[in-house]
Amino acid sequence: MVRADKRVFMSGRSWGVMMRLGRTFHVIMALIGAVIVLAGATLGGAAVAVLQPELAQSTAGFLNLASKAVGRLPQPAKAESHGRQSGDDGYEIEAVLGLDQVVAGKVTVTFTNDASVGLDRLVFHLPRGLQTVALEHLDGAQAGGDPARAGLMYTVPLKSPLPQGAQVRATLKYSTFLAQGHRRQGISSGVWLVNDWYPSLDVFDGEHWHAGEGAAFGDYSFLATASYKVRLTAPAGLSAYGPYGDRGRVVAVEGSAQTLVFETGPVREFAAVLTDQHGAVAEVGQTRPALAALYLAGHEAAARGALGSARKALTTFSELFGPYPGPAFVIVEAPITDFKGVEFPGFILISSSQYESGDGLESVIVHEVAHQWWYNLVGSDQLEEPWIDEALANYSTSLYFEKEYGPAAGRSILNAGAFALYRARRSAYPESYVAKPVTAFATEEEYKMMTYGRGALFLQALREAMGDQKFFEFLRGLAADHAGGYVTEKTLRAEADRAARRSLAGLFDLWLHQPDARLPR
Ligand SMILES: [Zn+2]
Repeated sequence: MVRADKRVFMSGRSWGVMMRLGRTFHVIMALIGAVIVLAGATLGGAAVAVLQPELAQSTAGFLNLASKAVGRLPQPAKAESHGRQSGDDGYEIEAVLGLDQVVAGKVTVTFTNDASVGLDRLVFHLPRGLQTVALEHLDGAQAGGDPARAGLMYTVPLKSPLPQGAQVRATLKYSTFLAQGHRRQGISSGVWLVNDWYPSLDVFDGEHWHAGEGAAFGDYSFLATASYKVRLTAPAGLSAYGPYGDRGRVVAVEGSAQTLVFETGPVREFAAVLTDQHGAVAEVGQTRPALAALYLAGHEAAARGALGSARKALTTFSELFGPYPGPAFVIVEAPITDFKGVEFPGFILISSSQYESGDGLESVIVHEVAHQWWYNLVGSDQLEEPWIDEALANYSTSLYFEKEYGPAAGRSILNAGAFALYRARRSAYPESYVAKPVTAFATEEEYKMMTYGRGALFLQALREAMGDQKFFEFLRGLAADHAGGYVTEKTLRAEADRAARRSLAGLFDLWLHQPDARLPR
């Protein structure tokens, strides 16, 4: 392992002073940023220069090479489900991140209608902190009236339906707030957690738009995989880590602002971490995916431990489900208190308190690694069917312990992580069941015990009914056939029936839809 050269990081104190200068600094920076954005066309590629040579020498520099070398999700085996990008579909985002927590920019979505019906509208999902949004440009279709905003939904009516196979390009101008505080999104102690930060096109499944809204708990959005070109102007001195740990290219530094450019292959969403607070440890050697962990002061040992667990989980899940979908994987310690861990394409956030307590750290790391298959590679609607990726990630965690430490360890994790959670409070929710939208759960407790708890126990019941060979065939089939796409309960049932060579409808109905009181005690 190689230790990061910490001299490249600005000290927390000097950054704190800059944060206090906040508003004045932002005004200057926003002006500089605007100049850079406006000058973008003329600067173009000609201005590309290595402006921070130290960064290239830091341990994480290898991630850049890895991303350039591979950087692509595997091509799907079958192109049968919607929600998978086609041709040159994708996102271009040009935005300025200001010190006053405002993100202002433009997002252009290029989208081909792969449904057999014409689309009479485009429906976008807005970030939670959205301040303003306006349709700036539409190519390939004509707006059929004024766009309408309702909650986190932004609808652009089309004058005539967009036929199957036709491509449309929509540019939205927007501004949004990043939260301040120790949450999974926003600015926490000098660490910028940049996610849920741009309007995205909702998924159309051939019949309806998946335009759900989140609750106070659970995930924020459900996106189709897409390629991204992101041009981000942010405070200089921050190191950036995007999907699969991609460091981006610094294409301009002007005063206190830097402009970074990222280009990705298909990923579930574009999220990044900007920081001047982290040290880094990375695995040495050529093993792929490349592995690194970013840690905050005093937590290097915990980060090294996390790295070891992540490597074992990546190996186990690659064997069980199929190849990991990217060139690198990064564990980012984050000063967050709302989640123990959060998954993004090719990187995860782990809360500092997990590193401090060490309590259950391995299972949290493994759960988030499992999401690289059940969320990033194979998507599911995290708002309408939140149980799918959580039950799969939670059950995968027990599979890891089973493979790594033996069947008793697997059972013990399933008991601790699913059964205990479910059993403890199930009498309080006799009418509840698993397969419902996140907003239909009355409390976070009910949501967790049903999606993580009873959902994982359902997969155990499925395994017992199918037998190991067919059950693992089912999981491998899910990952292979739906790579880059998404699955629903219906898809899961079809895949399970196919692997089992019989109908498992009764089991799906009992475990996912029947009131809890109907299940055995
Ligand atoms: Zn999860």
